[in-house]
Amino acid sequence: MKEQTFSGYSKLITEIIKSRYKIYTVDEYINDKPQNGAVILRHDVDVNAQQALKLARLEKGLGIKSTYYFRCIPKVYNESIMKSIREMGFEVGYHYETLDKSYGDFPKAIQLFKDELQSFRKVIPVKTVCAHGNVVRNKHYSGSNYDIFQFDPNLLVECSLSAEAYLTMHAPPLVYISDSIERTKNFRSVDELIGEIELSDNKDMSYYMLFHPCLWANGTINSFQISTKKIIYHNLTKALELFRKKARSSQKIRTKEKQCTSDF
Ligand SMILES: [Zn+2]
Repeated sequence: MKEQTFSGYSKLITEIIKSRYKIYTVDEYINDKPQNGAVILRHDVDVNAQQALKLARLEKGLGIKSTYYFRCIPKVYNESIMKSIREMGFEVGYHYETLDKSYGDFPKAIQLFKDELQSFRKVIPVKTVCAHGNVVRNKHYSGSNYDIFQFDPNLLVECSLSAEAYLTMHAPPLVYISDSIERTKNFRSVDELIGEIELSDNKDMSYYMLFHPCLWANGTINSFQISTKKIIYHNLTKALELFRKKARSSQKIRTKEKQCTSDF
């Protein structure tokens, strides 16, 4: 999206408030279960904890609360930042990727999930979790990190969690909006998104908005850095997709060849 800056973000939040939508954290939404007129505001902290703190301060100034999900990796897992954001009144959750980290081994991934969750809970209370989707990492399976909840349907209850941010959010229907590079087709700019909010002033619907703090710039240099990273990431993703497609088709050819050979 164009205009992904802190000032663009302020304009967006101001419009949401003006349009009389109620902004929820993920946990608040699960508890209140509003039928419409809700905006669930979620932030996945993928690469830069400091930028998350800056965005939280901006939101605090605008008088709103949201949910920040932190990954459990050295450059993101920052106890003092997580505590600060929590103390400002925000929800802080665990952005897990244990199936990726365990190369698709489900029992290992579930144990790691429990261990990492425990580390988070030594610092802040965690009520909800959210799967990280890493398109760049070479996966040893074709599913998503949240598949651990299908493998162990009791995991949410066992870990005293109220929600998984993808799996628990289906009803009532939500309009999903994200700043992820692969999901920007619907809105080319922040202004276009603001226009959508203005038009939907009747509040017959609810929105589920995901914004990555690292993709919102707060200065000229930051803006340039983000654009460069986006271009590199976009091209890398495309190249990987192409590579995987080629690998899959050559795998198919090899399987067919094997079948033909075994048929004779
Ligand atoms: Zn993520």
